[in-house]
Amino acid sequence: MTYQHVFAAVDLTDEADQVLEKATAVAESNGARLSIVTVVKPLAQVYSGLDLAPLANGSASFEEEATRQASEKLQKICEQYNADKRDVHVRVGSPVKEIRDAATEYEADLIVVGTHGRHGIGLLLGSTANSVLHGVDRDVLAVRVSVETS
Ligand code: AMP
Repeated sequence: MTYQHVFAAVDLTDEADQVLEKATAVAESNGARLSIVTVVKPLAQVYSGLDLAPLANGSASFEEEATRQASEKLQKICEQYNADKRDVHVRVGSPVKEIRDAATEYEADLIVVGTHGRHGIGLLLGSTANSVLHGVDRDVLAVRVSVETS
């Protein structure tokens, strides 16, 4: 079985390259289309217990600015990994839900995400990869990413 459409989810940290290198390799070896998504988390979701209304002052919202910067970064990534500009997406919301929804919407047949292979309490708390895997009806490739410690 070959994949037709590989869908890489990246969080724009240093580990994104590790996810994209694997996603690109799988896409190339399958002759598949490569899409890339990153998800901006709304401030209200990150700080769910706080009332952030006083921050609204008519200027660009946090989400608008974060989306603008994420789009710029993704366009550069897209050139580096030879993805089509039309296949690069920035969404706002919960990363797990948006990754699943976008993969379904764009009819990807393989989702590629990073995983840190957590143990102990980290494993119990779960991870993005784990949550994506348990909510989709398509294949998920979890790429073990290493985080540099200095
Ligand atoms: P985490 O479990 O949150 O450390 O994330 C592991 C992997 O999930 C990352 O390497 C990405 O593949 C994916 N991921 C996490 N957050 C996001 C995000 N905001 N947008 C897109 N992908 C994400």
